[in-house]
Amino acid sequence: MAKYHLHLAHLYGDLLNTYSDVGNIIALQYYAKQMDADIDVKVISIDNDFNPQDFDLALFGGGQDYEQLVVSKDLPNKKAGIDKFINDGKPLLAICGGYQLLGHYYIGADGEKIPGLGILDHYTLSQDNHRFIGDITIKNEESNQEYHGFENHNGRTFLGKGERPLGKVISGNGNNGEDHTEGAIYKNTYCSYFHGPILTRNGEIAKKILLAALEHKYPDADLSSQKALKIKPTF
Ligand code: GLN
Repeated sequence: MAKYHLHLAHLYGDLLNTYSDVGNIIALQYYAKQMDADIDVKVISIDNDFNPQDFDLALFGGGQDYEQLVVSKDLPNKKAGIDKFINDGKPLLAICGGYQLLGHYYIGADGEKIPGLGILDHYTLSQDNHRFIGDITIKNEESNQEYHGFENHNGRTFLGKGERPLGKVISGNGNNGEDHTEGAIYKNTYCSYFHGPILTRNGEIAKKILLAALEHKYPDADLSSQKALKIKPTF
């Protein structure tokens, strides 16, 4: 029996789960076990209420434009809850389509404007008959860590106020192919275009997310052994 118990909300997990984004949950559970924690998972989808106090961490995965449009219509029902969750500093991982939907809007491949939550200050434009597809490597300049992944997106995202990139692009396209940024960090919300899924190849990000969740839920706990956890590079 683990000492710590975390509850994860998989936001729209039945609609937004391209390229095995759900593997991020398996990776979180894998590293959580090494931190003496377990994680239970609940999919929160259309018509379910999202009560931020019920959850300690969350995943918002990627999807096709059509599913993003479906989700977009339900977002106003969850906006207050997701806003509180993020601004209280609880950790959320948002990938690709989920990342786009945390921002103001995404112009889909057909030119339709898909409104987002506007909780983070970025916006996402389209590109004509082209997608950014391929391996990508970035470097987080605060931690000096390199992250590796695979990107596949039409959207070109431009960061706004209060957001810093997850990393600087070393190879690949990243947020928009222009400004050499990839992903976003806002409080304990981590956003990225990496599928693959990101956490299986970049355990250091899983560790940051889990520590943030544990520190938030158990402010008086001694988490020194969790902080000392060594993440083995995958290659
Ligand atoms: N539909 C979005 C795009 O093409 C998101 C893609 C994704 O989540 N993989 O940019």
